[in-house]
Amino acid sequence: MSPSPDADEQALTRLTLLHSQHMPAPRAVIIGGGFGGLSAAFELVRRGIDVTVLEADREVGGLAGSFEVNGQRLEKFYHHWFTNDIHVGDLVHELGEGHNIIYRPSRTGMYFANRIFRLSSPSDVLRFTPLPLADRVRLGLLALRARAVKDWRALEYETAQEWLVRLGGERVYEVVWRPLLEGKFGPFASDISAVWIWNKLKLRGSSRDRSGAELLAYYRGGFAALAERLACAVRAGGSDIQVSTAATALVVDDGRVVAVETENGTVDADAVIATPALPIVADLVAPNAPDDWVRRLRAIEYLANVCIVLELDRSLSDTYWLNVNDPGFPFVAVIEHTNLEPASTYGGRHIVYLSKYLPASAELYRMSDEAALEYSLPHLVRMFPAFDRRWITAAHVWRARYAQPIVSKHYTQLVPPAETPVEGLYLSSMAQIYPEDRGTNYAVRDGRHIGRLVASHLIAHTNGSGRRSDYGVGPQPAR
Ligand SMILES: Cc1cc2nc3c(=O)[nH]c(=O)nc-3n(C[C@H](O)[C@H](O)[C@H](O)COP(=O)(O)OP(=O)(O)OC[C@H]3O[C@@H](n4cnc5c(N)ncnc54)[C@H](O)[C@@H]3O)c2cc1C
Repeated sequence: MSPSPDADEQALTRLTLLHSQHMPAPRAVIIGGGFGGLSAAFELVRRGIDVTVLEADREVGGLAGSFEVNGQRLEKFYHHWFTNDIHVGDLVHELGEGHNIIYRPSRTGMYFANRIFRLSSPSDVLRFTPLPLADRVRLGLLALRARAVKDWRALEYETAQEWLVRLGGERVYEVVWRPLLEGKFGPFASDISAVWIWNKLKLRGSSRDRSGAELLAYYRGGFAALAERLACAVRAGGSDIQVSTAATALVVDDGRVVAVETENGTVDADAVIATPALPIVADLVAPNAPDDWVRRLRAIEYLANVCIVLELDRSLSDTYWLNVNDPGFPFVAVIEHTNLEPASTYGGRHIVYLSKYLPASAELYRMSDEAALEYSLPHLVRMFPAFDRRWITAAHVWRARYAQPIVSKHYTQLVPPAETPVEGLYLSSMAQIYPEDRGTNYAVRDGRHIGRLVASHLIAHTNGSGRRSDYGVGPQPAR
């Protein structure tokens, strides 16, 4: 649904005409400086739109934001790409930074009944002794059958549980899938759509080399380096990126958005792209938009996430990604990041994330950093009996309130379109990514898409006779 190159060219000609008549360029405000917001800005500035990005945090990057470990940036929440994350790859190449994408084999495992099982390749699946041989084969076939599904819409009517049991049987579900779904979605596990798990299986299955081993990608310098590089390109195009500047309200006049209020003043806008979680957008726009639409923004539920990041003086194991299928262990995964990106990058520190998705009301989300660490360490000792807390050189606790939308059955009906009843206001938020699940790759894809669309609307409505009344943004295609 991108504007055609012809339409783009016509619009640019009109914009050039506008500049030659000394008319001001149309102004777009983007709320959020994560990968989605920055990608939208990237498309807008290169089309001559005057862009302001408002970011509440101190830095750009959003959920893929970072902190410093031994002079090196590290993600607050573990991040990697699959080899089929092509949209982010395309952007990186356009920025001239393709050489900074690093592909590495990854070792994946599963913690079950106090043991760690390797699960990186099809032959590992065949050696997965907690299941009888026939079920191991069913597990392997399930992944293949998932990849063969062509029309995900047929899966919208089933829960992940129903679909997985149908394909792989009860025992495979109980040993492999139930703990994973419950670990990731807690009280919402039984609501999760078959589309969500299908998509995960499909993506992971196709991020493999010829031998079936998984390949993952990382960015030299971390995701922060890429976010900064993108921000740099956006600034070079003349855009203003204001960090530590939260949008506090949208100003709507006669059904059209005309400005964004921030903690530091008001920014006028002919169009606004909102990229934060939908409940945040609802709060920003609530008094000035139809109640039923605002209710729709609040209808999708989100889980929060807590990540405990340990800097260790030695490695825990040789596994990068350890799924936890033991109901007694409170984290969904243990990710030893330095089994993907070497510890030498962080001056020899070994980085381990303990990740937990949970409702924001959960105790672990609300406890102090010290209490969260104390709570988690005995579990880590149980998993790695040799582990000693003296290995820890530093520990950090990061929390994200809106970390994972709950993708339930019939999710298509819940997702609000990019168009909104407020003229000039567009949504491009993580919860709208579907049937794929959130990820920087899709934030880039959708951010660029909305940026192109808004640019074409703004430019198409520019006729040189004045700013305010002539930038009415026309009807927008649903996504
Ligand atoms: C635990 C975890 C692990 C993940 N692992 C991966 C991975 O391995 N690979 C991968 O590709 N993706 C991963 N993701 C997902 C990825 O981080 C997100 O999908 C992506 O970063 C979303 O980008 P976004 O721009 O759409 O949203 P966000 O990153 O959420 O950006 C929205 C921005 O809006 C800002 N904001 C909010 N309110 C306001 C306001 N009022 N005013 C101004 N600004 C505001 C926020 O500070 C934020 O910067 C992971 C996410 C989590 C939580």
